[in-house]
Amino acid sequence: MKSNIKKAEILCIGTELLMGNVINTNAAFIGQKLAQIGIGIYRHTVVGDNSVRLKDALKQAFERVDLVIATGGLGPTEDDISKETAAEFFNLKLIENKDILESLECFFKKSKISMSENNKKQAIVPEDSIILENKNGTAPGYIIKKEISGIEKTLILLPGPPKEMKLMFEKSVIPYLEKLSDEKLVSKEFYFFGIGESSLEDKLKDIINTQTNPTIATYAKEGEVMVRVTASVPNTSESDDYILPIEKIIISRLGEYCYSTHSDGIEGEVVRILKDKKIKFASAESCTGGLISKRITDISGSSSVFECGICAYSNEVKVSTLGVDKSTIDNFTAISKETAIEMAKGIRRISGAQIGVATTGNAGPLDSEGKPVGLVYVAVDSDNFSHVAELNLDRGYTEQRETIRNISASYALNLVRLAAQKF
Ligand code: ATP
Repeated sequence: MKSNIKKAEILCIGTELLMGNVINTNAAFIGQKLAQIGIGIYRHTVVGDNSVRLKDALKQAFERVDLVIATGGLGPTEDDISKETAAEFFNLKLIENKDILESLECFFKKSKISMSENNKKQAIVPEDSIILENKNGTAPGYIIKKEISGIEKTLILLPGPPKEMKLMFEKSVIPYLEKLSDEKLVSKEFYFFGIGESSLEDKLKDIINTQTNPTIATYAKEGEVMVRVTASVPNTSESDDYILPIEKIIISRLGEYCYSTHSDGIEGEVVRILKDKKIKFASAESCTGGLISKRITDISGSSSVFECGICAYSNEVKVSTLGVDKSTIDNFTAISKETAIEMAKGIRRISGAQIGVATTGNAGPLDSEGKPVGLVYVAVDSDNFSHVAELNLDRGYTEQRETIRNISASYALNLVRLAAQKF
């Protein structure tokens, strides 16, 4: 019988996590992976290496859900108590597993390290548990199932080190959980630029509030919004049947802002569209200091669409290299739409690319040339589309330099995308 587990809790074990010495990346990883296969995460808990408190955490978690995924404390040392505590909690014996003992002996022999008595502890397993192989270390993981008050409860115990845990999760845990369910979760993401989260939500309010399958959720990140449409579908079904009608509504209402359904950012979309059109762009950057170059060259295959990037930070280089008229800077300053336009035209001319893009502005923290923090001009130049935008990105907090530069670079990349569409 399939159990269709729909919700779970994550329990991370380790005093170092409580003290803030180690950041709990395991919970983030497992949370994302569970969401992708349709299991809702109801709670994350962190507990130290203490048997009483761990048992209490298990008790409380299993009162709320039937599946708990725990990480940490499976190693050979005295403070590693997860397996022993779980066995005690479920009232299970710990028994020696000959296969694990043999593979441990083999591992230590191969590594030419003598195996200590402590290490043998890793061959002691809770009875009737499913053993999960650890391809990156010595501590196996366990799936322990036991009825509590007539309901089957499942505890999946995984090692703490992320590289061991991740591989085990992907190779063993996901296939195990997927087999339990008759349904799968499918989702499609839509990425938007040029519209804020609340305006976007406003346009989708009716379907966000009424749709239960698929569900529609919005997420904001620096200057962008992502909408994820998620459907729970029978294992045999084509996901498009569920997603497509909602996709049509989203695109009909917000298509002009939607730049991609891929998660590799505007830079990823720029590479795809310029490749498709067989054209190139070049960038002249002042306030973004090379960020456009960095982000575009993060994408593999960008060499076929990116001619060059010049970081023209000083006014002298804007004039001598990009050919900006000195009088333009004298009359309007370097932070002006006139300078931005000449920079975009200049980089296009000297690179020979079909599209030139430029940024100039004040990323803060202080006013510059009498121009306020967050004032940025972004210009694009091509045969078919030339445009200059004034951005006011001051959000009022002190650490905003990175945000201002990032949004400016996104804006510039989006202008390259829009210019490319006209080819
Ligand atoms: P080991 O055999 O290394 O002792 P273990 O399963 O007993 O493995 P822990 O001792 O709890 O795991 O943790 C080992 C290391 O793994 C920690 O010092 C930490 O660096 C990392 N780690 C543990 N838990 C987490 C977590 N939740 N998120 C990120 N890293 C973690």
